[in-house]
Amino acid sequence: MNARLQGTDTLDARQESERRTLDACFLGPYGENDGLLEKLVVEFLRDHVYWRRNFHPEDPPAIPTRAAAHPAYQAFEARMRRELHSLSAALKQSVPFHSPRYIGHMASDLLLPGLVAQILTLPYNPNNVSEDAAPVTVDLEVRVGLQLARLFGYCDDTSCNDCAFGHLTSGGTLANYQALRLALALKAFPVALVAAAVPDIGLPATAREAFNLPRAAGVELVDRWHAWLVTRTPGDRMHWRERVDAERLEQRGIADFFARHGELRVPVVLAPATAHYSWSKGMKLLGLGREQLWKIDERDMRMDPDALDAVLERCARDDQPVLLAVGVLGTTEYGTVDPIDHIVDARDRWGVRGLGFGVHVDAAWGGYLATLFRNADGTLRERADIAGEHARFPQPAVYDAFAALARTDSITVDPHKLGYLPYGAGAFVCRDQRGVSLLAEQADYVFHGDAAPDYFARHRRLGQVIPEGSKSGAAAAAVYVTHRVMPLDHLHFGALPRQTIRATEHFVARVEAFAQAIAPMAQVAIPFMPDSNLVALALNPAGNLDVARANRFVQALHDGMRCDPRHPLQMRQFFGSATTLRPGIVGDAALIRLCARLQLDPSTFDDGDADRLVILRHTLMNPYLLDHENDISYIDRYFEYLAARIREVVGI
Ligand SMILES: *Cc1c(COP(=O)(O)O)cnc(C)c1O
Repeated sequence: MNARLQGTDTLDARQESERRTLDACFLGPYGENDGLLEKLVVEFLRDHVYWRRNFHPEDPPAIPTRAAAHPAYQAFEARMRRELHSLSAALKQSVPFHSPRYIGHMASDLLLPGLVAQILTLPYNPNNVSEDAAPVTVDLEVRVGLQLARLFGYCDDTSCNDCAFGHLTSGGTLANYQALRLALALKAFPVALVAAAVPDIGLPATAREAFNLPRAAGVELVDRWHAWLVTRTPGDRMHWRERVDAERLEQRGIADFFARHGELRVPVVLAPATAHYSWSKGMKLLGLGREQLWKIDERDMRMDPDALDAVLERCARDDQPVLLAVGVLGTTEYGTVDPIDHIVDARDRWGVRGLGFGVHVDAAWGGYLATLFRNADGTLRERADIAGEHARFPQPAVYDAFAALARTDSITVDPHKLGYLPYGAGAFVCRDQRGVSLLAEQADYVFHGDAAPDYFARHRRLGQVIPEGSKSGAAAAAVYVTHRVMPLDHLHFGALPRQTIRATEHFVARVEAFAQAIAPMAQVAIPFMPDSNLVALALNPAGNLDVARANRFVQALHDGMRCDPRHPLQMRQFFGSATTLRPGIVGDAALIRLCARLQLDPSTFDDGDADRLVILRHTLMNPYLLDHENDISYIDRYFEYLAARIREVVGI
């Protein structure tokens, strides 16, 4: 042990071991783990080649051993090399996500277990659309669904009827789309059962009642219907299936379904004003229309539960059905966390009053932060235990939101964001597997009785329910292996988000000194205290009252921190991102408070360039922002850089 480590006796043993584990997690900002990565890639590439050779070793090589001597072969290889070199050269203009100087968007270095699993799997090229094309990785994908279910507190015991189910998607956008599809299927199916007049399964009295069933009651009804079907004779079963299918929204289409049920209105989706634009895309895709996406007012960029309740009150009064209430766990722009506990409470309150709907959590960003809340045995950690590791995280409201995840109906999470995995890995998880069969292209009703396939056999038919068709099995392998190497609890995977929350708290603590350093030149404020690991900074040149000028100032700062293909990357000291605060979303009171802190005149907001306030946004997910090895804080360096830039920009 070197002298430096011995000297750090304030560091407890766990922190030390956590850091040393972190040393092995990534290729590293300097490519420090190049030897490890190379060894693994070569080892498993060779392994793949032996697999090919050992398939039918009696088959002679189809490519002759002298092939490489032919001019056509050599010409091909030359062309390939030339193009690969030019690709590799062009890629040097890529965004340096790996560097602790990159604090812009939601990307960072890639976890080695995931990267290697992905590379290892690629030459096998499994297609997770079906078990036939991916006998191994489809199974891994279903297991990833269970790993994530456990992370969120859903049931992951596959012997239970109401066990959770999850699958991967290309990203959070498709996972959100899947949430909408499933919610709509579950909402409309009871209406089809009523219209088909299925006997003996305890149907609601009217289509209106059926359309407004609580989500859990809808799932139970689907289950009873399947159980009833298997008791029928094959002929009878076919008859009832066709009869119900003919009434389904998926069969008739939205226009015809609602024309047939004139008393029903097209349902609305309630989402916070900060919701990601994938929700708007999803509403368009499903044909529900953006007008049916109702934005709920915010309080400090978190959904206001009173505003939600007021809207639900109005829906109940106007007979306006609600499809989903969406809460965001870590907003894309500010990392703020919606009060998920209040949203599920509202669902339960209104459900018994005849206004049933599901609750979906868009945790594309913040999902992996749930590892900080989970013990290794799967139980929820006490708030005090987590708070003991941080300055202000988790605030009580944030803790309550994470603790309520277990009560939600479905969740989106992106392994390719805070899971530090390659792109093409989002995930959708729903609490109760029993509704999922409604998404299938070909209904499978053999869920009950002795012939019922087990959990894995049933869900391996992924292609039936996923929104995509063909898709990468390598992505599933990457996520699965990573979760095995780093189980999703605070002692293992949690080490990563713990670093990033610490970095964020360091950032917040550092702002005061920064404010003093730049006081003669500019005012600075953190518009909302971060709930997670995104921090925004609002800035205004000293003496300026005008929003348009403040925006030009912040834009100039941001221009120095973004990729510019005309200049080498090395010209940049730091990479950051910017976003805007719109008066309509922030709320007047909050905006006036912020303007006062920045000494801006709120009356200078206008309909043109100054209809919003431009602010800097920092995603602090790089695990090496606080470099203990070299005693470097990239956060401190960033503030020094920013102060110097402000001096330049103000001088212009
Ligand atoms: C990133 C993000 C999405 C979209 O996810 P993609 O993986 O980019 O498709 C949706 N919602 C939130 C909150 C996000 O942060």
